[in-house]
Amino acid sequence: MIPFNKPYLTGNETTYIEDAVSRGKISGNGYYTQKCQHFFEDRFNFKKALLTTSCTDALEMCSMLANIEQGDEVIVPSFTFVSTALAFVRQGAVIKFADSCGDNPNIDANKIEELITQRTKAIVVVHYAGVACNMDSIMALANRYNLIVIEDAAQAICSNYKGKPLGSIGHLSTFSFHETKNIISGEGGLLVINDDRFVDRAEILWEKGTNRAEFFRGNINKYGWVDTGSSFLPSDIIAAFLWAQLENIDTIQKKRLEHWYFYHSELTEWAKSKDIKLMAQPNEETNNGHMFYILCQSQNQRQEIINHLRDNDILAVFHYISLHSSKYYKDKHDGRILENSDKFTERLLRLPMFFELNPAEVTRVLKTFSI
Ligand SMILES: *Cc1c(COP(=O)(O)O)cnc(C)c1O
Repeated sequence: MIPFNKPYLTGNETTYIEDAVSRGKISGNGYYTQKCQHFFEDRFNFKKALLTTSCTDALEMCSMLANIEQGDEVIVPSFTFVSTALAFVRQGAVIKFADSCGDNPNIDANKIEELITQRTKAIVVVHYAGVACNMDSIMALANRYNLIVIEDAAQAICSNYKGKPLGSIGHLSTFSFHETKNIISGEGGLLVINDDRFVDRAEILWEKGTNRAEFFRGNINKYGWVDTGSSFLPSDIIAAFLWAQLENIDTIQKKRLEHWYFYHSELTEWAKSKDIKLMAQPNEETNNGHMFYILCQSQNQRQEIINHLRDNDILAVFHYISLHSSKYYKDKHDGRILENSDKFTERLLRLPMFFELNPAEVTRVLKTFSI
């Protein structure tokens, strides 16, 4: 069976975990945590990086940092993972769901302004499949209306927009190291703070509302409870695992991109003959090989392709169900129809993508699909 995803281990994960254990400090903010955070800050030009236990937790920290209060409005794409909206809903926000672009699932930057009201506090964008949203117009809009921009860059590590790393553009950003992402630690995430206003408070929320991190730096002689927060920081054992991945980030990225370009070139003719659209080839700087998807003609055709691949021991999977029509949110949604989001819900299909994949096998089977 060719799975949809298979977590890749570089070989050094357990070595570094053993080292973390032997260092005797395995709670958060230890040796490997610091190493990983500095790596992100140096390589991607992030002002401040804090490891978290998940991207979901990092998004919850964004919601707290943005001071979301009951009834505040947050603009979120509908075609995304639950956490992009949930983190703000927990804090009392009303979600204004935005539609995707016609030709890719990213938020349509031209349709955001009409959703802004007196109560709007933040715009959350998702770089779907690691492909950059239109950040120039989103940041310009945010400046005009004094809104906070949060990049949900869960899928977007090593991807850029006009020369800038994704995650370095919004006021706040989040990444995921869930085992389905390019760089993994089982569960894990990262909060990025690019705006000075949020740096000190982020560290406090991260450490259960205490100024403990500052205490450990020796800046104050005792620490105490100064704000809200939670236990958002991972054990140093998780960071040790992550470090083994980060050391190999270039090898991992290179291989995934090879798979991506193989799929794209080998399937172009086939897709044309079946009236199927391949994921558009993004500008090279904004392709990180996170995902390769196709857009089928219909939901039925998608199911037939899924069945055909499954009959040949290959697992291909669809993706999000529009959040505005989810069981939890549909009664709270304002009723607007989001046709592009629904189109991707019904017709998008993701092909297997992981380090040890042989994409030639998937391609060969797809080419035998004959309806
Ligand atoms: C994976 C993902 C998340 C959630 O990440 P976790 O680390 O599992 O919390 C959030 N948003 C997007 C867009 C994702 O792809």
